[in-house]
Amino acid sequence: MMEGTKRQGTEALVNLAARRSIILPAFSPYGELGGFYDYGPIGIRIRHNIESTWRRHFIEAMGNVEVDTTIIGPEIVFQASGHLGNFSDPITVCSKCKTSYRVDKLLEELFQGKGDKKSVDRVKTSRLPELEQMMVDNGVKCEKCGTPLKKADTFNLMLGTSIGPMGGTSGYLRPETAQGIFIDFKNIFRNLGLKLPVGIGQIGKAFRNEISPRRMLIRMREFSQMELEFFFDPEEKELIINGENVGDGFLNQRVNFVTREMQLENSGKDFIEITLDEGLKNGYIPNKLFAYLMFRAGEFMDRLGFPTDSFRFRQQLEHELPHYSKGNIDVEARHDDGFEELIGIAYRTDYDLSNHAKFSKSDMSVVNGEKKLVPHVVEISFGLDRIFWVLLSNSLRKDDKREWDLLLLNQDVAPYKYAVYPLQKDEGLVKKAQEILKGLNANGTYSYYSLSGSIGKRYAKSDETGIPFAITVDFTTLEDGTVTVRDARTGEQVRKSSSEIR
Ligand code: AMP
Repeated sequence: MMEGTKRQGTEALVNLAARRSIILPAFSPYGELGGFYDYGPIGIRIRHNIESTWRRHFIEAMGNVEVDTTIIGPEIVFQASGHLGNFSDPITVCSKCKTSYRVDKLLEELFQGKGDKKSVDRVKTSRLPELEQMMVDNGVKCEKCGTPLKKADTFNLMLGTSIGPMGGTSGYLRPETAQGIFIDFKNIFRNLGLKLPVGIGQIGKAFRNEISPRRMLIRMREFSQMELEFFFDPEEKELIINGENVGDGFLNQRVNFVTREMQLENSGKDFIEITLDEGLKNGYIPNKLFAYLMFRAGEFMDRLGFPTDSFRFRQQLEHELPHYSKGNIDVEARHDDGFEELIGIAYRTDYDLSNHAKFSKSDMSVVNGEKKLVPHVVEISFGLDRIFWVLLSNSLRKDDKREWDLLLLNQDVAPYKYAVYPLQKDEGLVKKAQEILKGLNANGTYSYYSLSGSIGKRYAKSDETGIPFAITVDFTTLEDGTVTVRDARTGEQVRKSSSEIR
């Protein structure tokens, strides 16, 4: 991120997102429904660029494949995946007005507000009975009616529906994109003649009936994931990706890491630095493929524009592990005053394939070379909306020179590379600017155009919506074909021939 600029808080981002329709609360004329948001024109371009960066990095560069599977599934699929039995969060319901809250998040916010970082960490390491006790000990009350909250329970997050005209079959909206990949895996592996290890990825919607959706895109009920299920033979020692042995070089990569011990001791440290090799040898990282996906995740964060000290890898505690997992490490990035989980990496073993084999009574094993096996899986699951939101909140800056905010995004994720502005409402200038715009668009550099407001106001608009360069067409342009190109990072302008701009 740029030196000499100050990070703006989330409040400034919420304000900007509303003012520029980057993110809109869904259904707002009808009153808001918690946890549902729409992306506006600028927002969706940034989101698509995050998706493309992910696709290039995790699908194409690794020789993996991508699918798009259904959002609704029959009940038996989620019985097999374990979500109907196990996928729940701690809830408390006000005995008087029936408002419900997610207990751990309520306590975290309470302690965060008091600046009590140790208690925030303690909430993260506590189970249901301890959470209930903390709630009672701290006299936590219903935010709506003030009644003391006393009882904590578990609440299943699956959103149900019924399929068919008579509601004959019960179905559910998927809580993650992964299950479709597991179900189709054998077919795809065989028909495409794939070899282990191989990843199958998917970008798509997921749904969770969150108890108290909050903080804009951080906790939603309908959200998007980019998931990669990496299938491998757990007995194979060498790691071959895209036909090449990746070797051991990447294991020297240093990462910011939080161990279980650090969390249980309430160490107060944000992270320590370890190499991936140390992580493997100390048993923090379950296997080499897992370490490799951490390495790639670090590269991805870097490509998006997250500075190295802005994110860390956190080893999940034993009781936090999802029902399918033999080890989870989250990628968390700085957000507000703490860290927010953006990416989950999980060693899912053969849990999913074996359960689908059992419930569907079909064989899920594949033949890899000479060997028949049910592969194991390491999953890397990206919360697209959270990445979007936290990236924007880290990128929204203020400098001394300008009265407005700057959204300093990498060119890979910026909504447009160029904004094209006629200096003023003049027929000749407008015509020339339109011509330049059409030329850029025809060359695949789809650009932003605006004529409304003073040029200063338009610079402010492109600065705060993350457009790196503004091209201004003035009267000199009509004489010699040169335009000014203004760099949003510095506010400086250079004159260039419009034909040189790509
Ligand atoms: P999980 O399967 O819980 O590990 O989720 C994978 C990723 O999806 C997380 O790392 C989050 O970034 C994202 N995610 C999970 N739940 C939500 C939610 N309610 N709203 C937005 N993103 C979410």
